[in-house]
Amino acid sequence: MLLPDMRLKKVTDISVEMLKKNKIEVILLDSDNTLIDLDKKPLDGVKEWIQLMKENNIKICILSNSIKKKKVEKIAKYLKVPYIYFAIKPTKIGFNRAKKLLNIKENSHIAEVGDQIFTDVLGTKRMKMFSILTEPICEEKVKLNNIKRKIEKHILKKYKAKE
Ligand SMILES: [Mg+2]
Repeated sequence: MLLPDMRLKKVTDISVEMLKKNKIEVILLDSDNTLIDLDKKPLDGVKEWIQLMKENNIKICILSNSIKKKKVEKIAKYLKVPYIYFAIKPTKIGFNRAKKLLNIKENSHIAEVGDQIFTDVLGTKRMKMFSILTEPICEEKVKLNNIKRKIEKHILKKYKAKE
């Protein structure tokens, strides 16, 4: 129940071939830390990726647990996809609302992509859908910042030595 069917670094790593191979026709997308970071900035290349999915007849819908309608609506408008906010994953409520919205009946043809095991993966497995776990965008940012800080320290050390 807590194991995803697939693990990827980020949502844009999902290829059309991967989806076809697993008979996926619909992707439900988590928002926070999957599509947008803590500053609400969209993941690099996500708009182009959505376009590619649409061109290959993959249906997309945002399925977010966020209670902030405006925040979810903003990213949905930017990506030109429908959305469900306050989805209450891991319950089935939001998943079923998304199914109704997209008029999809067969759960096994639906994948959900998200960064959290206890909401995204658990909810998806309960729905008997295909679960794709991605790494949270922000942890990556923290890691990058740590590297940056190390470089900064190194540079500062050199600078001080020169003084
Ligand atoms: Mg998330």
